[in-house]
Amino acid sequence: MFQRTQLTHYIFIAFFVALPTMGVANTIKDIRLWQSPQNTQIVIEVTQKPQYKYFYLSNPVRLVIDFYHTTLKTDINKINIQGTVIHRIRTGNSKPNVRRIVLDLRKEAQYKVYHLSPNKHYRHRIFINLASHGRTASPIFEKLERHTVIVIDPGHGGEDPGAPHHGIKEKNVAMSIARYLAQFLARHDEYKVLLTRDGDYNVSLHQRRNFARSHQADLLISVHADAYATKTKNSPSGLAVYILDADKTSSAEASFLAERENKSDLIAGVVLDNKDDILAEILTSLSMSATLETSNAIGKMVLQELSQVGKLHKRGVGYGNFTILRSPDVPAILVESGFLTNPTEARKLKQKVYRKNIAQSIYHGVHKYFKQVARQEVYRRKKS
Ligand SMILES: [Zn+2]
Repeated sequence: MFQRTQLTHYIFIAFFVALPTMGVANTIKDIRLWQSPQNTQIVIEVTQKPQYKYFYLSNPVRLVIDFYHTTLKTDINKINIQGTVIHRIRTGNSKPNVRRIVLDLRKEAQYKVYHLSPNKHYRHRIFINLASHGRTASPIFEKLERHTVIVIDPGHGGEDPGAPHHGIKEKNVAMSIARYLAQFLARHDEYKVLLTRDGDYNVSLHQRRNFARSHQADLLISVHADAYATKTKNSPSGLAVYILDADKTSSAEASFLAERENKSDLIAGVVLDNKDDILAEILTSLSMSATLETSNAIGKMVLQELSQVGKLHKRGVGYGNFTILRSPDVPAILVESGFLTNPTEARKLKQKVYRKNIAQSIYHGVHKYFKQVARQEVYRRKKS
């Protein structure tokens, strides 16, 4: 199946990422797949730093990854490839020391393959991103002729679980609350509601933020759940709302949280090849103070509503340097819907009705704000 002549004939890209050396025993422990509307992401988790090479072949189209001195200890048949660009995953020993994984593709795809170092959640990983065009768009709540654009951003997703604790994952809590929130807002014709992700896959923080900017969103709401590792009985709890801290005067706790949330791309395996040029724009933008004022006003109203559902983490709106909130022209809030590290709160967050209540409170706060703005607008027009 893998004749040398055929290979050399069809290879048009081949990288030797690391030269194979003898005697290193590695194991493929898991293969995970995440599907977004445009991309198929495959993660191959191994026990040691992998020695591998990969190449893309045509007729039929396929991506081949060779792992040296590696055994496979996961069932490739369990991987759900339905609705992806992959039509089959094969494996074999092409040479005595080589464990080969072949992704047979339905059509041509742009591909990226790279190694990710271990972190708190995972061991060494090979991350494969396959981008193919012409896929169906993600289902989003959208009705035409709505005036106020609200982008809801369910934090994390796919390879990045966020904070996993007490049997729940932050990415799932965030997705659930975001969907309820979208439903509440979509009841009103004046809102056009869009989601940055609508499924279990990851979107980079830059993409999420740019999505809101490109749709000229009137508001971006990023939904998360907090975690704080502590062994004491009184572990932190409570709901919180954050807005961007443009002066970098956040509390130590907020900085720690922002840092953790900003690591999302790293955990999910997004290549950070684009510099954060928006930061410079923020510092010089004249619209920034108006944007922050709006964020703050909405944040306060949302926080007030949230105090009806549960305990607040602290009284006022928090300030943090969150990447997702850095837009000079899009008011943005980040809601932390409780601490998954707190057993009581984690138990509550497992319940649909509680997540729905949180969503409803966010909705009430947001709706109150935009109703007020609309009233002021009418008043202003009458006067002039
Ligand atoms: Zn988060």
